[in-house]
Amino acid sequence: MQNQYQWLPFAVHRSSPHFDDRPHEDDVDLLVIHNISLPAGVFGTNYVDDLFMGSIDCQAHPTFSSLNGLRVSAHCFIRRCGQIIQYVPFSKRAWHAGVSNFLGRERCNDFSIGIEMEGTDTEYYTDAQYEALVRVSQVILAQYPNITSERIVGHCDIAPGRKTDPGDAFEWQRYLDALYQESTIE
Ligand SMILES: [Zn+2]
Repeated sequence: MQNQYQWLPFAVHRSSPHFDDRPHEDDVDLLVIHNISLPAGVFGTNYVDDLFMGSIDCQAHPTFSSLNGLRVSAHCFIRRCGQIIQYVPFSKRAWHAGVSNFLGRERCNDFSIGIEMEGTDTEYYTDAQYEALVRVSQVILAQYPNITSERIVGHCDIAPGRKTDPGDAFEWQRYLDALYQESTIE
């Protein structure tokens, strides 16, 4: 299957070195929402971009020592202002989920797309972020129809006890309402 968009035409493209091949390129049926901020709770820095690009200076902040050697990425990162940066094409495996399990299937990176929202578990996400997330999600769902509404989850859902993102601050109903409402109008 040749997907229409491996790279979103409306995103900034940054090729992360942190990706590899999916076991089955067309086997994509899960969308995972995350949050991240570096340092935690500080927004608008370039450190998340540095982390995903493999160029973060682990001396730049005391808390960054834990990031030493960490090789992670996401398909997309949505900043507080709504800017979308894509790091990995959808056909490839980004390294966002870690040890994970969805309905008994492990290694969710194999079959999922990961989107990082700049934020924390407790701070409300911005309107611009919801708009961007809906826009990205609509493109993804059009290309991967096996990603049904019940297969859009948080990192907390596939790594319970280990991960809590995107946290209570993420308004799932708002997101899903906008996603499916706007899709049907189109
Ligand atoms: Zn996460």
